[in-house]
Amino acid sequence: MNDQINRRAFLTRSALAAAAFSVTQKNLFAAPAIHAAENLKTVAELDPAEVRRFTGLLRGRALMPDDQGYEAACRLWTGRMPKRPGLVVRCADVEDIATTVKFARDRQLLLAVRGGGHTRNATCDGGILVNLSGMRAIDVDPKKRTVRAQAGSTVGAVDETTAAHKLATVLGECPSVGISGLTLGGGLGRLMGQHGSLCDNLLSARVVTADGSVLRASSEENRELFWAVRGGGGNFGIASEFEFRLHPAGRVLSGMLRYRISDAKEVLRFLRGFMETAPDELDALVEIGSRILQYAPDAQSPIVVINVCCGGDLGKAEKTLRPLRTFLRPTSDTIRPMPYLEAQGLGDVSTLIRHLSPGFSGYGQSGFLAQFDDEAIDRIIAHCERPPSEAWSFALDHYMHGAVLRPSENNLAFSLRRRGYSYRSSAFEPGETQAEAPTAWVRSLNGALAPLSGGRMYMNYLTDQGEAGVRAAFGANYDRLSELKKKFDPINLFRLNPNIAPAG
Ligand SMILES: Cc1cc2nc3c(=O)[nH]c(=O)nc-3n(C[C@H](O)[C@H](O)[C@H](O)COP(=O)(O)OP(=O)(O)OC[C@H]3O[C@@H](n4cnc5c(N)ncnc54)[C@H](O)[C@@H]3O)c2cc1C
Repeated sequence: MNDQINRRAFLTRSALAAAAFSVTQKNLFAAPAIHAAENLKTVAELDPAEVRRFTGLLRGRALMPDDQGYEAACRLWTGRMPKRPGLVVRCADVEDIATTVKFARDRQLLLAVRGGGHTRNATCDGGILVNLSGMRAIDVDPKKRTVRAQAGSTVGAVDETTAAHKLATVLGECPSVGISGLTLGGGLGRLMGQHGSLCDNLLSARVVTADGSVLRASSEENRELFWAVRGGGGNFGIASEFEFRLHPAGRVLSGMLRYRISDAKEVLRFLRGFMETAPDELDALVEIGSRILQYAPDAQSPIVVINVCCGGDLGKAEKTLRPLRTFLRPTSDTIRPMPYLEAQGLGDVSTLIRHLSPGFSGYGQSGFLAQFDDEAIDRIIAHCERPPSEAWSFALDHYMHGAVLRPSENNLAFSLRRRGYSYRSSAFEPGETQAEAPTAWVRSLNGALAPLSGGRMYMNYLTDQGEAGVRAAFGANYDRLSELKKKFDPINLFRLNPNIAPAG
C-alpha cells in the first residue's frame, strides 16, 4: 500500500476539515431512527477480565472511556461527541474487525461502525465502536486503472492519490466524507453522468459478516453479498477494503456562476431545461441562501450560486456551458479550465460547520425531486422569499442523468436510477434554543416538495425520515435486501444504519 502518498494526502486536505470539526452537529445529516436496542448489554456490564482478554487479541488500540485518545476516537465529522461508547476499537486490520464482530455478537453488545463519521450512526452509547480511521492505506494500479482503499480512507485522500496518476473514480466533493459510507450507500459525484455512481465502479470489497467470516465480494465471489453492499449500506457487514475502477481525469471546465436572489426563479427555470439536454460530462449543483453556502461561504446576504464541472474535450465543454453563462448576466463567473482535483476542492464547508457549533441552533433535512417543473420551482421560490433567519440554504445536488441512470433499478441494491435532483435544506439562528423558526421553515419546504419525490430518496441523504425514508431509499429492492439481511445478519447485529429488517 502506498502509505507515503496516503499520509501526505490525508495531511493536506482532510486535516484542514478535521481541524475545524470541534463543533456541534445537531440533527443535520443524521441517519433515521434505529430499531430499539433492547436486550443488548453494555461493555460496563461485562466482567473486566473478559474485556481484557478480548482487547489482548487486538493488533490495534482499544480505548476505554478514561483512556487518552478515547474522545478523539468518538468524535463525528463536526468534532461533536453526542454519545459515549463503552469501548472503542481502533482496528489495525481486518482480523481486528473480525475479532470485534465475534465479541460483540457473542456478548450481545450494541455495535457501531465509524468510517468518516458523517452520520450520527457512527457512534453509540455503552456498546462497542469500531473506528476504522487507522486503516487508511490507498494503493493505485495505474496499468489496470484500479485503486484499493482501506475502509477508513476519506474522499479527499483517495482523490489526491489517484490524481497523482491523472485518474479518478466517482467521488463526492466533501474531502472529509468517508469512502465507506459513501460507497455502501451509492456514492454520487461529479463524474456520475459519465461513469455511474461510486458503487457502479466498485470491483470488489472485503467484508466481515455477522458470524465473523471474512468474505471477498465481487462479480465472481459471493455475488449476492456483492449486490447487497453496492447500495445496501452497512447492513450486511463491516467492509475493510474496497477496490474501484478508475477513469482518466485530466483538465475540466469548472467554477461558479453567481446571481442575484431576485433572479432565482429565472435561473431555476433556465437550468431545468438546460440540464434535461445536458451531455453526460456536465455536472451542476445549485445553492440558494446566505452565510452557510458551500460554494459561496462569503455570501452574507441571499444569492444564487451554480457550481459547474464539465469534463471531456474542453472546446466542447466551452460550447456546452455557453448558453448557461450568457442567458442572464451573472454577477460573477469564475469558470475556467482547471485540473479535476482542483474542481473537486472548490467547496468550503467552514461556515456551515461554524453554524453547527454550540452557539447556534438549527435544523436540516433532505429529499429527492423527481418532478422539477414550474410547480416545484414555485414552491422552492415561495420559501426562499421568506427565509427564517440570516443563515439558510436550499441546495440542489447531483442531477441524476447519463450513465448513472443506465442500469436497471434492480441491477444493484442502489436503485435510485431516476432523473432528478437530491436536495438539502437547512437553517440556523444564533443561540442555543432558537431552532423553532429554522425547523418550521425547513419542514415546510420539505413538506411542499415531498409530493414531487416520486416516492424516492437517496439513502446517503436520509436524515430523520424513519422507516418510510428507508423504504423510499431502497424502493423495489427492499424485499430482496431483507431476505439477504436474514441470510448474512439474522440477528441484526449491524443495526446502526438505515436499517433493513431481516425477513420474517
Ligand atoms: C458535508 C457532507 C457532504 C456530502 N457530500 C456527498 C456527496 O457529494 N455525494 C454523496 O453521495 N453523499 C454525500 N454526503 C453523504 C455521505 O455520503 C453520507 O453521509 C455517508 O454515509 C458518509 O459516510 P462516512 O463514512 O463519512 O460516515 P459514517 O457516519 O462513518 O458512516 C455512515 C454509515 O455507514 C456505516 N459504515 C461506515 N463505515 C462502514 C464500513 N466500513 N462497513 C460497514 N458499515 C460502515 C456507519 O455505521 C453508518 O451507518 C455528504 C454528507 C455530508 C455531511
